[in-house]
Amino acid sequence: MGRMLKAITNKGGVSITVLDSTDIVSKARELHSTSMTATAAFGRVLTAASLLGSNLKTEKESITLRVMGDGPIGDIIAVSDNLGNVRGVCSNPNADLPLNEKGKFDVSGLVGKGILAVSKDLGLKEPYIGQVDLVSGEIAEDIAFYLLSSEQQPSACALGVRIGKDLSVEAAAGYITRILPDATDYEIDTIENNLKTIIPVSSMVKSDYELTDIVKAVFNSLEFTVLEETNPDYLCTCSKTRMEKALISIGKNELNEIINVDGKAEIVCRFCNSVYSFSKIELEKLLESAVS
Ligand SMILES: [Zn+2]
Repeated sequence: MGRMLKAITNKGGVSITVLDSTDIVSKARELHSTSMTATAAFGRVLTAASLLGSNLKTEKESITLRVMGDGPIGDIIAVSDNLGNVRGVCSNPNADLPLNEKGKFDVSGLVGKGILAVSKDLGLKEPYIGQVDLVSGEIAEDIAFYLLSSEQQPSACALGVRIGKDLSVEAAAGYITRILPDATDYEIDTIENNLKTIIPVSSMVKSDYELTDIVKAVFNSLEFTVLEETNPDYLCTCSKTRMEKALISIGKNELNEIINVDGKAEIVCRFCNSVYSFSKIELEKLLESAVS
């Protein structure tokens, strides 16, 4: 399980959500067999989705991040509920690139140029969709740019994944700190200065920092109150009922073809690899609900 903490400065001008997503990204790596650089890219997007999702108000709401670049990994998709429980998929999990000239994972090279689309399903008919060009492809900057340009929310975002020699996830983490409307100049200046010298968030988690220590590193002299501590996870929402709906939605003709040609169907969930099998009898039953 991940560990998430939300805090706010005592003056009420700056909030922060911090997530240790090591377990979440480890699970994603196992499920999707991601390469080293893909684990870093996918892990950052999953962490960002969880952080943004945890800001949603009700359990009916969900948020979907789509990072659609022209790089070798293809599209990266991550979906989170309002508790930060997250699931995801990427087009080419095996794609990889050598380390960049700074000796870091070449996440922006793997992602390429393109767009970040954020859709929020707020339980209404039409989901809210915001879209920005990727400014760096490193994800964290792209998230901050999205929040500013689409939601008029000034923020700072950090995301990081550290991977061991055996390709396991040593640490994954991130935070989003939001400048709220009542922020004082002192609060804003303090945060800006702290962020100039702060060490990478994944290094803090690797060095066994508590989540409150990470908040202290960002807030420094600003006193704060912890609002909430939770344990989001990599969690899929698939079920046989959902797969039935998917089969029904392909229409009578397609279903008939499956029944006549294969006599059965097997659907694999792209988020968690769960396999759902349907017998001929089950498919024929679904046929009754399908429209042509
Ligand atoms: Zn699933």
